[in-house]
Amino acid sequence: MAAPALGVIADDFTGATDIAGLLARAGVQVSLRLGVPEHPPEDTAAFEVIALKCRTAPVTDAVAECRAALAWLRDAGAERFFWKYCSTFDSTPAGNIGPVAEALMDDLGAGQTIYCPAFPENGRAIFMGNLFVGQQLLSESPMKDHPLTPMRDSNLQRLLAPQTTRPVGLADRLTVAQGEAALQRRLAELRDAGTAHVVVDAVADGDLQIIANACSGMPLLTGGSAVAMPLPAIYRRDGVLAADAPPPRRPALASGAVILSGSCSAMTNAQVAAYRSNAPSFRLDPVTLAESGVAPAIDWLNGQADGTAPLIYATAQPDEVQHAQATLGAERAGQLVEDALAELALAAFGSGVRRFVLAGGETSGAVARSLGLTRLDIGAEIAPGVPWTFAVVDGEDVAVTLKSGNFGTRDFFTIAMARLEG
Ligand code: ADP
Repeated sequence: MAAPALGVIADDFTGATDIAGLLARAGVQVSLRLGVPEHPPEDTAAFEVIALKCRTAPVTDAVAECRAALAWLRDAGAERFFWKYCSTFDSTPAGNIGPVAEALMDDLGAGQTIYCPAFPENGRAIFMGNLFVGQQLLSESPMKDHPLTPMRDSNLQRLLAPQTTRPVGLADRLTVAQGEAALQRRLAELRDAGTAHVVVDAVADGDLQIIANACSGMPLLTGGSAVAMPLPAIYRRDGVLAADAPPPRRPALASGAVILSGSCSAMTNAQVAAYRSNAPSFRLDPVTLAESGVAPAIDWLNGQADGTAPLIYATAQPDEVQHAQATLGAERAGQLVEDALAELALAAFGSGVRRFVLAGGETSGAVARSLGLTRLDIGAEIAPGVPWTFAVVDGEDVAVTLKSGNFGTRDFFTIAMARLEG
């Protein structure tokens, strides 16, 4: 078992899928673990990503979970690590970005790390320590009203300082633009002055390349997924990633596919509408589910001809969602849908379906739990941030893709099926 070139700890599920998909562009095995594995490492991949759900967890819980993830990755032989959080630096004033980074640094004996959530391709840029979302400052973007992590300050140094015990500094764009050596000099200067946490500006992909080059030797890097994108090529150059690292496995799958959609985002509504026009579909309504249960949907699914990829969806427009929520309460409506889709996935698996397209973050979580998924091997990318993955359920190979609400284009479901066959 070759040691992983990089061990990644991600603070939420779709963030983990995002970075895993980007690392998989290198054409090597990437494995995504749902939670800290219970068993000691075996059969590890070139890149190991552990998906946690600790973005808004109490600080002590988040720190403990991330340290357990780090210990597992070190057991697997990894020597370089990446703490992945959102490109909008989602955190509460208490954390968890800073406290987790500091705990991981302590465990690794690392004197310094960088913070770079920039993702220029997706409109996330950092200039003079201030994070921009498109042309807006973070604090003026829709993130200011996020229900769990409202971001009311754009300055990453100011956001980080109360979350850490050691000094926070900045390597600004003027330095980054001068190249790798200049950035390394700046980091050394800050380190000599005792600055453990360094926010690094980046406004373009070229900046990320410079940053990755300058910092690839650090035991711990932190940021969004974009700054990790250049790492596979750098690791190959430096021999950290073996030239003959095995390509992703691509198991032969029995036929049978199903699309289960519980996301009500605008994009998923468009995707469902597009797919419904040329494939069999069944609509789940929470109010009907409360009355008649999931059996009619299972009967419908079992009656579908082989070779079709039927769609079952609770996806609805905002007024329909409001109606269901007013009748049942928001929590019960959501729970009924998640439970129904989880049960449908199990029923589909039982009748031989081996390809699952899941739309919705919570929906994906519910279905992943019901199928007992713990490890996903990353396969072909369907859309940026959404790869196919392969898993084993009851000894059988399955393909699963987990799409969070707004990801993908209108034809996502059709493209997904085509990508899997291609
Ligand atoms: P997204 O990734 O778009 O946020 P999620 O699956 O995370 O999607 O969240 C959607 C939530 O809405 C889930 O809890 C789901 O069960 C619930 N839901 C889906 N359809 C309906 C509906 N018709 N009425 C009420 N709630 C729904």
